This record gives sequence, C-alpha cells and structure tokens, in this order.
Amino acid sequence: ALRTVAQRNNMERLLAPLRLSRTDLQRVQALMRQEMERGLDRERNAESSLRMLPTYVCHTPDGTERGKFLALDLGGTNFRVLVVHVAEDNIDITNEIYVIPTAVMQGTGEALFNHIMECIMDFQMKQELMDQVLPLGFTFSFPCQQLGLDKAVLLNWTKGFSASGCVGQDVVQMLREAAQRKQHTALKVVAVVNDTVGTMMACGYHDPKCEIGLIVGTGTNTCYMEERAKVGTMDGDEGRMCINMEWGAFGDNGCLDDFFTSFDRLVDEKSINAGKQKFEKLISGMYLGEIVRQILLALVEEQVLFCGKSSHKLQNRDIFQTKFLSTIETPGLALVQVQGILSNLELDASYEDSVLVREVCQTVSLRAAHLCAAGMAAVVEKMRESRGLEQLTVTVGVDGTLYKMHPHFSRNLQQMLQELAPLCNVTFLQSEDGSGKGAALVAAVACRGA
Ligand code: ADP
Repeated sequence: ALRTVAQRNNMERLLAPLRLSRTDLQRVQALMRQEMERGLDRERNAESSLRMLPTYVCHTPDGTERGKFLALDLGGTNFRVLVVHVAEDNIDITNEIYVIPTAVMQGTGEALFNHIMECIMDFQMKQELMDQVLPLGFTFSFPCQQLGLDKAVLLNWTKGFSASGCVGQDVVQMLREAAQRKQHTALKVVAVVNDTVGTMMACGYHDPKCEIGLIVGTGTNTCYMEERAKVGTMDGDEGRMCINMEWGAFGDNGCLDDFFTSFDRLVDEKSINAGKQKFEKLISGMYLGEIVRQILLALVEEQVLFCGKSSHKLQNRDIFQTKFLSTIETPGLALVQVQGILSNLELDASYEDSVLVREVCQTVSLRAAHLCAAGMAAVVEKMRESRGLEQLTVTVGVDGTLYKMHPHFSRNLQQMLQELAPLCNVTFLQSEDGSGKGAALVAAVACRGA
C-alpha cells in the first residue's frame, strides 16, 4: 500500500531528534572538551563524567622493542593467555582462549585469580615456558585507578563480572597472591594495560604517529597521549602521559541529556546499568540494535510500519542485533534480504517497509559515527592545543567489531571528524589483536626504559 503523506511525516517526526546538526555536534564536542579539562583538574575531577585516568604509559613504541613476553587479556569477549615474540620485522603471537565460568566471574576474587593462575600455568606447560621468567603484560579492560605501571586499583566491575573482594584492590597484587598460593614463583608482572592503550601501542609499533587508541565494539572508549604538564591530577610536568578517558561514561552527570531521545531513554532504563555509560549507549555495538528495535516498535504503534502489526519476537530486548544494521546497510543489498531479516523476527515487511527500516538503521548508525567524531574532534583539538601546534598530524589505532564490520561507520566518522577538526590531519589504522600485542609492547617499552 502506498504510504500517506501523514505516515511519512510521522516517520520524519520520530526520527528528527536522532538527526544531529553540525551545531549539535559542535556542542557535543565542546562538552567533551569541557569534561576533559575538568577530569584533568585536581580540584574539579569529581565533577566530570570523564575519569581521565593516568595509565603510567609515557612512551609509544619506537620500533626497536624486542623480546618474548607473556600477556593476559581479561575483559574482552574472551579470556586469553598469550606469548608474544617481538622480533625485528614481525610480532608473533601464540594464544589460547580459556573459559571463565559465570560462577567464577561472580564468585570470590580469590577464586577468580586462582582460576586465572591455573590458566597461565596450563598455558606455560603447553608452550614449554615453565622454566623461563618472561615479563608479563596484563590487559585488564575495566576502569582502574592506576598508581603505577604495575599497580592498578579496580574502581568497579563491568561486563558481567562481579567477583567479590576486588573493587578497591590492586589487581596485580591479587594476581601475585594467587601465584604464591599456587607456588608459582616465576611470575613477573610488569604492566597493567587498558584495551584502548593496548590498541594504541599495537598500532604505534608500526606507525610512530599513533598516539590515540579507540575502541568501538561492545562498548566504546578512548585513550590519548597528553602533555604531562596538562595533567593536573598528577605531579611532574616532563614529557607525556597516556590518559584513559573512560569516555563511555561521558554524560553520566547529565550533560548529554538534551541529546537523549525517548528511544535512548527506554534503552537506558531497561539496561543493567541505568544512568551509566550514557555516551556508550548512543554509540556502541551493545546498544545500536536495541535503539533500532525501540524505533521500530514506535513506528508500528504509529501505523507507519508493517500495517501497524508487530510480532511477539520484536517484544524481546536485544532481539534486533547490531550486526543486522551492518547487513541492512550494505550497499547494493537486495531489499528481499532485509525482508528476510524481518521475517525471522516474524514481521511481515513489504518492499516499502524494508526501505523505511533501512532508513531507521542508517539514521541510528550515522548518529553513532557522528557522536564518535564529535568526541574524537575534542581529543585531537585538545592534543593540538596542549602541544602548541597550529596543525596536528596524528594516527588513531582502532579496534572493535562495530568499527571494523559496519559498512559506513568508519567513513562517516572520518568525514565528520575532518569537518569538526579542520586543523588536524587524522589517519585511522585498524589494529590486529591490540590487547595481546599491546600488553606485550607496554611490557617491552617498560623493560627498555628500566
Ligand atoms: P569487545 O568490544 O567486547 O572486544 P567486539 O569488538 O567483538 O567485542 O564487539 C562486539 C560487538 O560488536 C557486539 O556488541 C556486537 O553486537 C557487535 N557486532 C558483531 N558483529 C557485528 C557486525 N557485523 N556489525 C556491527 N556490529 C557487530
């Protein structure tokens, strides 16, 4: 059936708040900048929704790093133990994935770290590394107050972890104590690394201009190299310090509320961490599908889609996966394939319905890419000004499935970034196994400096 003008207008009215103008994005950029400044200021840090955590990583790789390292990767999709061989012309990685049972994730901290140690020992046996003491880098992708390269106090768990007795504790200390319990005397933990830092370091090995790390996967976060003199939360003003922004939490103090639509509020309210990680909830893979689902429900309600008929399936949270956006937005995709996805959700979609669903997906993913660009524009402009440069040339190391797999996200991000930060020349470089390689490189740089 042909859509009436009224229906089309309804659709436009519902989507209008998701279409951010250049002025909107400039406001987001200015807010991000303001929150960065506050986060770096000793007196005002608590007011900021950005934690701006010092990482104690002061140098990116210079390409001369060599050696064999152990690495742990906890906090991504899988828990892994790795051995990383950094040689002159390549970085060789052998890794093993270990399961952390839910009962262990949510049990006691002691049991969790015992389990981690058992995995390390199993790996060392299999790789015949028992008699070597290799420096170990620990990619631990949870917010930590870092007190040194090898001292990181867990601020709060995320991503389904809740092991007791860990918040407020140094994760390296907990690992060392578990090693003692297991009578494993040859563990040499030299660094705790956030996954954004790992990503920056992994790309930095190949490109010395890489001084920013970006993740757009399940969640989103960024780190960058700041001038030490601008880090008011720390003493010392020589050189640089990598700052883990924890930018997923941008807006948790309400500063982004104007940009939250009714759909975003529904997604937030129904999440396990309502009111938290608000920037992340507009951008990352964990949420985009769910935002689309909320819009589709509203469009059915308004009789714009599927002749006003919803399905039982569409009532389920997270049933509309973020990877569907990637498929639906694939250039040249036959609309019958969109109909296929919708029919799996028991929705009877006409050709026109499919066109509109694609438009919804495009609107949601474009907004995510543009918000990410506004945030990144604040970061590169801050770096440029901190360094007193007229122009900045910098590379961003990126990881995360949404960034890598979505057909338009990276282009939309880069185009808008160029418009918002015209004095910065920014290149994006995808990282391969940043959390593994990066942890080893942080360890390598630390050992080089020592
Ligand atoms: P993590 O950030 O935990 O390391 P990933 O980078 O693999 O994990 O990202 C996982 C997220 O990517 C999930 O939220 C998922 O919805 C999303 N995702 C998976 N496949 C695709 C895809 N083809 N296009 C866009 N997003 C995807």
